[in-house]
Amino acid sequence: MRFSDFHIHPDYSIDARGSIDDYCRRALEVGIESICFTTHYDSNPKRIAQDAYWNFKGEKVRYSDKLVDQYISDIESARDVYAERGLNILRGLEIDYYPGVEKETERLRSVFPLDFVIGSVHCINDIAISDPREAPGYFNSRTVDQMADDYFNLLEQAASCLLFDSIGHMDYYARFGGKYYGDDMNKIEIERFDPVFHKLIANRIGFELNTNPFKRGISDFHPSRKIATRAFSIDVPFSSVGSDSHIPDELGRGLTEAFDFLEMSKITPIFPRKQ
Ligand SMILES: [Zn+2]
Ligand SMILES: [Zn+2]
Repeated sequence: MRFSDFHIHPDYSIDARGSIDDYCRRALEVGIESICFTTHYDSNPKRIAQDAYWNFKGEKVRYSDKLVDQYISDIESARDVYAERGLNILRGLEIDYYPGVEKETERLRSVFPLDFVIGSVHCINDIAISDPREAPGYFNSRTVDQMADDYFNLLEQAASCLLFDSIGHMDYYARFGGKYYGDDMNKIEIERFDPVFHKLIANRIGFELNTNPFKRGISDFHPSRKIATRAFSIDVPFSSVGSDSHIPDELGRGLTEAFDFLEMSKITPIFPRKQ
């Protein structure tokens, strides 16, 4: 089976470790033939103080076009070095979705030669639901239905903007909401995804299968098998598999399970595109 991993955070992301080169070596070790680096790009003006930083040479710095340029050229250098060893390397970003990010995404795509861009909802009402310091302020003030309304509204907008190649971890709320809502999370009906699916179909945008749960010992994906199966049943485009690695050792985790699931479901990812 031909493995690819299209969701990787090298140490340009402030929450990641391992250089582009470290990840490339690891990819060869674990038998992955195509990878895409997808450093976080979080440009929400209401969150600049928390989010608008990258690592560069061990320092936390405000990202800039100059730094994005450096990142792209680091990937291109690796691409040249590793091509002859059979590793295909792509240039990407994971862009945090918030209403208004469209303009900046369009600009980035016109300025930089990006092969693949993930759009992901990480924040609701400008609050990072993954951050234990911020999340209680959001979840404790919203019922489970209100949270779902907020989340799916954002997800549908991300699926509508035509600027992403993939929608990242579509059921991200499920990873963090359980702690606050317990069994009430089951009240969120799977049909909530349908309007998002229809946007993806209309706009020919895919969703990813994110294997992040495997590093936490959970044998499922984001979105879950159940949600992905519903998407496949109505022919929602499928973009890619990604480990969401933040350290090189995580590369490849869950990929066997993901590609087995895709094979069983008779689904071929759009990315990497066939040459
Ligand atoms: Zn993400
Ligand atoms: Zn990510």
